[in-house]
Amino acid sequence: MTGLKNKRWFERECRSLLQSASLNSSYIYAALLDMDKLSQFNFKYGIEAGNEALILTAKKLSKAVEGEYKLYKSGVDSFLIISTYPNRNLCDLELQQPIIDSKILALANFSHKINDLEVILSASLGSTIIDASKDSYDSLFNKLDYSLKQAKKLSPFGYYFADLDALKRYERTNKIRYLLINVDKSNELKLALQPQYINENTFHSSEALLRWHSQELGIISPAEFIPIAEESVAIIKIGDWVIDNVCKLLHQVSQLGKSTCIAVNISAKQIVASDFKEKLLASMQKWQVLPQHLIIELTETTLVSDIELVKETMVELNQMGFRFSIDDFGTGYSSLSYLKELPISELKIDKYFVDGIMDNEDSSSKTIVNMIIDMANALGVNSVAEGVEEAAQFNYLKQRGCDLFQGYLFSKPLPVEQWVEVLK
Ligand code: C2E
Ligand code: CA
Ligand code: CA
Repeated sequence: MTGLKNKRWFERECRSLLQSASLNSSYIYAALLDMDKLSQFNFKYGIEAGNEALILTAKKLSKAVEGEYKLYKSGVDSFLIISTYPNRNLCDLELQQPIIDSKILALANFSHKINDLEVILSASLGSTIIDASKDSYDSLFNKLDYSLKQAKKLSPFGYYFADLDALKRYERTNKIRYLLINVDKSNELKLALQPQYINENTFHSSEALLRWHSQELGIISPAEFIPIAEESVAIIKIGDWVIDNVCKLLHQVSQLGKSTCIAVNISAKQIVASDFKEKLLASMQKWQVLPQHLIIELTETTLVSDIELVKETMVELNQMGFRFSIDDFGTGYSSLSYLKELPISELKIDKYFVDGIMDNEDSSSKTIVNMIIDMANALGVNSVAEGVEEAAQFNYLKQRGCDLFQGYLFSKPLPVEQWVEVLK
């Protein structure tokens, strides 16, 4: 219809371009342009008008890119653009890239006349520069796909250029996603336990924090891998691993004649899973742990994500003796009336607010911290300050009535053996 070569042609020509480019370590520019909401356009103006608009767009794009770049049609309403010749000079290509990107996304390419009416169809563009010596056709296509997805988040006329740093991050994320599939069986996961104190010398309880020492990538922070795990069932497997190992640890310390309480972080996906309760109870039974020794930490955002379902599980587990702590309190948007209905026994003040309480110029953190402590009092639950690093922060929180303290001032998260010593 547009007279352009299709995706199969793109693949054939792109593969041979990559091959010749890899021989002399050259770089290639590639881009994927996708029309935004063409179906809505078709619905409003008719398929004929939609086809006409695509043909016109193709013509204008061909003109915009001709010479240095080639244009192909991909799927129903996408276009592929790629360097005609490989370029040995990366800097040179990096200078050209924003120019060609803006030429492609120029408004004029997407404005059409329909019955004398000026109509603008929009599109989103993801582009990248490929090092031909390192990339295959498939990885090029995956990168384009990734760039376009990022661009679509900003649509209409979304735009995203994946530079080398972005591509490195993307590749690392992919690698982590892949390694997460079997991480629970890998022996690479460990628990760290961070003690929580009533005051300088009085140990109270602990929070279990996950540690991953990957053979391939080294130490990976949970702040990096948990959000990636949360995109798939990996978070369930990891979550099960944490629960089982915390129960096992509680069992071990009980054999040493010690009794303590550990808080575990539970993700939204995990708590709403239909078999969450069964698996939790199975681990508890296997290691002969009582519900009083576990605190389930849910973030405020988790509460909001599926409040009715989460509430049902919380109420049921609470009746069995489990307690709940609301993590990162003050960063989500939970409604106060709901808080009253949920079986909560603890509010955790986020490190972000604790960091801000000694700020003399901006008192907003202090105000929020005061409010959380007062609210915990009013609800009859504990307040726990997280990330306490300085004595001044502790002193303020203590005199303001905060109940528990967790942070480097008291202790960093500890490996299991060291933590057992503290407990003893
Ligand atoms: P979080 O639950 O808010 O955990 C507190 C984080 O603050 C931990 O980081 C802890 O090491 C750190 N921290 C504690 N005190 C201090 C301090 O005084 N200064 C500083 N700079 N940091 C402090 P970590 O262990 O890297 O965990 C990051 C996040 O990863 C956690 O935030 C939690 O959201 C998630 N996470 C960790 N373990 C698990 C887990 O087993 N399951 C799930 N679902 N999420 C987990
Ligand atoms: Ca937590
Ligand atoms: Ca937190």
